[in-house]
Amino acid sequence: MITINENFLNLQDSYLFQTIAKKVAEFQTNNPDKRIIKLGIGDVTRPIVPAVVDAMYKAIDEMGNQETFRGYGPEQGYSFLREKIVENDYLKRGVEISPDEIFISDGAKCDCGNIGDILGLNNRVAITDPVYPVYLDTNIMAGRGSSFDEKTGKFENIIYIPATAENNFIPEFPSEVPDMIYLCFPNNPTGTTLSKEELKKWVDYAKENKSLILFDSAYESFIQDENIPHSIYEVEGAKEVAIEFRSFSKTAGFTGIRCAYAVVPKELKGYTKKGEDVDLNKLWNRRQGTKFNGVSYPVQRAAEAIYTKEGQKQIKENIAYYMENAKIIKDGLKEAGFIVYGGENAPYIWLKVPDGLSSWEFFDKLLNEANVVGTPGVGFGPSGEGYFRLTAFGTKENTIEAIARIKKM
Ligand code: PLP
Repeated sequence: MITINENFLNLQDSYLFQTIAKKVAEFQTNNPDKRIIKLGIGDVTRPIVPAVVDAMYKAIDEMGNQETFRGYGPEQGYSFLREKIVENDYLKRGVEISPDEIFISDGAKCDCGNIGDILGLNNRVAITDPVYPVYLDTNIMAGRGSSFDEKTGKFENIIYIPATAENNFIPEFPSEVPDMIYLCFPNNPTGTTLSKEELKKWVDYAKENKSLILFDSAYESFIQDENIPHSIYEVEGAKEVAIEFRSFSKTAGFTGIRCAYAVVPKELKGYTKKGEDVDLNKLWNRRQGTKFNGVSYPVQRAAEAIYTKEGQKQIKENIAYYMENAKIIKDGLKEAGFIVYGGENAPYIWLKVPDGLSSWEFFDKLLNEANVVGTPGVGFGPSGEGYFRLTAFGTKENTIEAIARIKKM
């Protein structure tokens, strides 16, 4: 008899985007003349920039030529891309990382989930709350969290670290020490960031407790304030305690092309039950070599093109476009009397819903009265209740109109 991984039965149905889609479809059926503007889902809308498209075409031509055809590539990624990453994303910021500490993948989502393969099942996991749901669900699948408590909206055995307006969105150390700590900055969904000083506190805490920080910086390219760190490795000592996840998805519109990378420094150790230390870089290398066959050559060439002069100029124009939308949303909502967070170093705006309404009630109000779709904060964790996320990834015209409609509500 085939048995299943029963941890999957503990998962809660991810009804957030399904429920949103259902409510929107219902509204549209009942109001066929209304034009709905969607500022809910965190996907890009600008096309791939020409420098990247050209590089991809060129690579595809190479694949069709006997002389330049390539089969399986290195599982960890081609050195041409790993070297560009080191040079541009790290050395330029004064961080020394070596190419064999970079692992190219097909997404930060997969990396954030797969990393659990090399970590013990008894580790206590901490997530900030609200947060990108992948960290939580992948650990529930692995069995690091157990049953779900309907009353609190939390899983047993998972440590939730609230990041709300009350603590200025700065997560505080929990009462129980975690072994694995997921940090995501700039944050999805709140759009807030952590200063170097705040990040340093977490690095020191992890060092003191022999914990591992899993740092997701998928949105680093949206940082405008030069004092905010793009990488956790800008903090001294972080290479001993942190794995970093990066993605080209939002940086360069690769959500459909798929390319990302994880950084696993050689200084980083995990421990056996007996307390002997083991290099995590070696374990991740082994895991990737066994379960992954690399990202396709044309995609890695496309990613490489992001680092050319033209590529940089073009992707920065797109980021500026989204950040202008973020400003339109933030300023407009403030004028309309809302309390708003984020949106300055991230493409997400996190607003406090008016008193007395839940996140879902505000969703309905916005849909009915302004025909605008956003995401209820509670969908990202219990501490998201009372908040609401809007994204800057729409078109400028739609963003302007959505805000004008909200102002009239
Ligand atoms: N990390 C965060 C915080 C995200 O918000 C997302 C996507 O929305 C991802 C990772 C996924 O990135 P990728 O497209 O590289 O899988």
